[in-house]
Formats: sequence, structure tokens, C-alpha cells
Amino acid sequence: MDSETREKLIAAAQQARTRAYAVYSGFTVGAALLTADGARITGCNVENVSLGLTQCAERVALGRAIAEGHREFQALAVASSTGVAPCGACRQVLAEFCDELRVLLVQEKPILHTREVSLLALLPDRFEPKTDS
Ligand SMILES: [Zn+2]
Repeated sequence: MDSETREKLIAAAQQARTRAYAVYSGFTVGAALLTADGARITGCNVENVSLGLTQCAERVALGRAIAEGHREFQALAVASSTGVAPCGACRQVLAEFCDELRVLLVQEKPILHTREVSLLALLPDRFEPKTDS
């Protein structure tokens, strides 16, 4: 991924963050997936009064991407004030489609800073049922 592609992916995650519906926590998150063919698909967190029904930005982005026909991904940018990593549930859901994925953790305050990790590092022992054969 060249630097222009990386910067556009980060900017897309930051833009998605501005659309987050985070009226209960106040913690807004934006995500942007880079598909194998170069499309950027965004998501934001969508909270609910029944807090357990809240949807994370990463899974919103992944669901939109799948619905649009994408199945392979190069990278994911996640933008928040503190640069949080995807939660455990999102890691497992991303692993459904990605053996490996570059993950850019974008911290917006006090200064913009991006840390790069891999999905494999975030989820080294994913749940994968063995088949009985
Ligand atoms: Zn999550």
C-alpha cells in the first residue's frame, strides 16, 4: 500500500467517525476497509439504548463491504480519539474473511498518530472448528 492510499484510507476512517451515532458513550469510532480491488468501504459505531445491540464501526464497515460483493481485503483503518484496537468480537468477524490484514490504529488526540498492527497479532489463536474426518 503506497502512502497516498494509506492516507486516503485514514481520511476515510476519520470522515466516517464524524457520522458515528454514539449518544450514550460519546466515544466515536470510524472504520475504513480497503478491498482487494482498491475500494474503500466505511463504517461508524451505531449505539443503541439497549447497549448490547450497539454495532462497532469495524463490523458496520465489513457488513457493508460484504453486501456490496467484496470478500477480500488489504487493510483496515480504525479512527478514534485514543487509537483503540478492534474489540475481540470484531477481530473474530474480520478473521472470517481475512487470514491476514493490515490494521491502522488512528489516534486523533492530542496529535494525529497512526500505529500499524496485523490482525494475526491482534488475534493469534482465532476460533476455527476442526472438522471431523
Ligand atoms: Zn468491535
